[in-house]
Amino acid sequence: MSGGESLEFEIHPNPAAVSAAERSALLANPGFGRVFTDHMVTIRYAEGKGWYDARVEARAPIPMDPATSVLHYAQEIFEGLKAYRVDDGGISMFRPDANARRFRESAHRMAMAELPEQLFLDSLTELVKIDRDWVPSDPEGSLYLRPFMYASEVFLGVKPSSEYLYVVIASPVGPYFKGGMAPVTIWASTEYTRAARGGTGAAKCGGNYATSLIAQAEAAEHGCDQVVFLDATEGKYVDELGGMNIFFVFGDGSLLTPPLSGTILPGITRDSIITLAREQGREVREEPYSFDQWRTDAASGRLREAFACGTAAVLTPVGAVRSSSGEFVIGDGGIGQVTTQLREALINIQRGRAADTRGWVRRVL
Ligand SMILES: *Cc1c(COP(=O)(O)O)cnc(C)c1O
Repeated sequence: MSGGESLEFEIHPNPAAVSAAERSALLANPGFGRVFTDHMVTIRYAEGKGWYDARVEARAPIPMDPATSVLHYAQEIFEGLKAYRVDDGGISMFRPDANARRFRESAHRMAMAELPEQLFLDSLTELVKIDRDWVPSDPEGSLYLRPFMYASEVFLGVKPSSEYLYVVIASPVGPYFKGGMAPVTIWASTEYTRAARGGTGAAKCGGNYATSLIAQAEAAEHGCDQVVFLDATEGKYVDELGGMNIFFVFGDGSLLTPPLSGTILPGITRDSIITLAREQGREVREEPYSFDQWRTDAASGRLREAFACGTAAVLTPVGAVRSSSGEFVIGDGGIGQVTTQLREALINIQRGRAADTRGWVRRVL
């Protein structure tokens, strides 16, 4: 029996790890999510046994029985966070405790076993330690960590799985915006929604992404980079993008972001921006904002900036919004001052260049 707060990790270094020369070639231009490190972490769960068999081993395919539950009923959740190379050569993570908590909450919503938060944190530390040489030294690069968990019981009955496999993989990534931050044009979908009341909008589950892809394709057909979803009940209020939260910046310097009413993913970047903006003396409201109001405020100039936010891109300026009823531009369609300033403030904390007065930065090495 285990299931406690911590486990000993069995460590099996990859005997076929890539050479230093090959690794530096891969790190020169990693892009996003295509290059992976030498190792992965796995931890198993079985009902009646708890969490067991924590391992660090060579990253490898996972054999799967065709009747594995996740393939049929999609009990799957994930997280995304980054490890950063700091100026003294060490490595840190940003608010991993918040990811640990959200992972547990996602598991709860999906009726999956809840991984103890300490075990989640230990799993990240183990992987970053063994794959430390994969953390880019490029000041804009980072090691993206992808913890995930799925229903691994071999059974076709519809019920919560009695077995789970938790895995962490890591992928070195370059700057999100090659050649600097650029404003995006977003598509407001009136056809598709992302999350309804009582649904899974607040859980980070693969299923939410599966259902957003058709809207993302619709956005691309209309020449847009991303899709913004409106609420499922009235089709009136702004929720968020497919994988990023959204903020609005007004002429008086105040900010507004849609409230966490259950249909929005509680982003850690969102939460960090609210905190930073308030510390700067800005008013931040968490209130519903209608699409019509958005268009009106953009036209009147009351709205100066809008930006999307998430771990991958940090802050992304929204330059223009398109929908079946036309297009409107925000501010001058460029990169706003407040967006730039908040982005810098957040990145400086993440990279250890500004004082971490809130205990957000966790040193790994
Ligand atoms: C992950 C995610 C976000 C951003 O969350 P962060 O913790 O800031 O990375 C926003 N919306 C959705 C739908 C997401 O899946």
